[in-house]
Amino acid sequence: MTGAVVTAAPPAATTEAEWSAAVSAIRELAPTGRVLLICHVNPDGDALGSMLGFALGLRRLGVTQLQATFPGPFEVPEPFRALPGLDLLVPDQQAWANPDLLLVFDVAAESRLGALVDRLPRARATVVLDHHASNTRFGGVNLVDATAAATSVVAEELLGRLDVPLDVEIAECLYVALATDTGSFRFDMTTPRVHEMAARLIATGLRPGEISRRVFDSRPFGAMKLSAEVVGRAQLDPTAAAGHGMVWTYATLADLERHGQRPYVLDALIDPVRSVAEVDVSMVVKELAEREWAVSLRSKGAVDVSAVAMALGGGGHRLAAGFTGYGTPGDVVTAVRDQLGRHLIP
Ligand code: 5GP
Ligand code: MN
Repeated sequence: MTGAVVTAAPPAATTEAEWSAAVSAIRELAPTGRVLLICHVNPDGDALGSMLGFALGLRRLGVTQLQATFPGPFEVPEPFRALPGLDLLVPDQQAWANPDLLLVFDVAAESRLGALVDRLPRARATVVLDHHASNTRFGGVNLVDATAAATSVVAEELLGRLDVPLDVEIAECLYVALATDTGSFRFDMTTPRVHEMAARLIATGLRPGEISRRVFDSRPFGAMKLSAEVVGRAQLDPTAAAGHGMVWTYATLADLERHGQRPYVLDALIDPVRSVAEVDVSMVVKELAEREWAVSLRSKGAVDVSAVAMALGGGGHRLAAGFTGYGTPGDVVTAVRDQLGRHLIP
C-alpha cells in the first residue's frame, strides 16, 4: 500500500462496563493469582512510572504474585533508576509464560511488545491501560483514553476505582510518568485535570524538585559532549512539510561508543532539536543496528506526525510520534520528507 493516508479514529471513551471489567479482573484474582505487568520496548517515564505505580498499588491490595517487565535488554535508563517498585522488575525471559492476569501499560500496538507479545494469547485475562489515539485495542479489556496526558492518568483512575489510597511511593511513580509525558507540564495536554492529579500526587509528600533534577536535569559529562556533537550536525530544511520546515539530526552507535554512553541518552536530544524556531517538524534518527534506526518525530501543530509515523510502520500521538526506519539516515529523512506534506493538520 503506497501513499495511503492512515488516520486512526480516536477510540471512544472508556465505558463503565470496561472499567468494571478491569476492576473485577483484579478483585476476583485468587490469592495466589499471578499478575504480570508489561510496558513498551525502550521504556520511557510514562511506561515505567504507570506500570510500577500500579504494581505498588496492587501490592497494597495484598497481591503477592507480582512481576513487572519490558521487552528487550534489561536496562532501566539512569533517570528512572530511583523509581519506587523497581524490585518488582524482572528480565523479560523470566516473566511468567502464563500469568493469571496481564496488565499492559502505554502500549499502542502489539508491535511495541517485542518478544512479550506471546503473553497476550497465554494470559487468562488481559487489561490494556493506554492513552494513544492509535491504540489498536488488542486486550480483552481496553482502558484507552486519548484525552489523558499520560497512561498514569488511566492508572490513577483504576487505582481509585479499586479504593487503593495514594501513598508517596505510588505517587512518585505516577508523577514521573505525568511529568515526562507532559514535558514538565508544558504541552497542550496539560489540562486542569493534569494539574489536579499533580496536586493529589504532591500532597502525598513527594519532592518535585528532587524528582525533576534526577529525571530531567542530570546527565553524565559524556552525554553532554555527545549531545553537543549530535545537535551540532543538525540540518535545517525550510521547504519540507509544504514550507512549514523541518530540522533533523542523527546519532550513530559509533557516537555512543566514542562517548561511552548508552542508547537511552539519545532520547533527550529531541528537546534541543525541537526548540528550533524556524520549523514545525523536528526529527532525531538514532542508530539501533546496522541500517536500522529509531526515529523520533515532533510537530508544533502543522503536521500530524502520528499519521506520518503510521505510514512508515510506527505510531504515537499527533504531535509526538516515532517509527523504525531502514537504510542510511538520508534514506530515513527522505521517507519522512515524502510523507510530511500528506499529513498537514487542517
Ligand atoms: P519518542 O520519540 O519519545 O520515542 O516517542 C514518541 C511517541 O511515539 C511515543 O508516544 C511512542 O509511544 C511513539 N513511538 C515511538 N516509536 C514508535 C514506534 O516505533 N512504533 C510505534 N507504534 N510508536 C512509537
Ligand atoms: Mn505515554
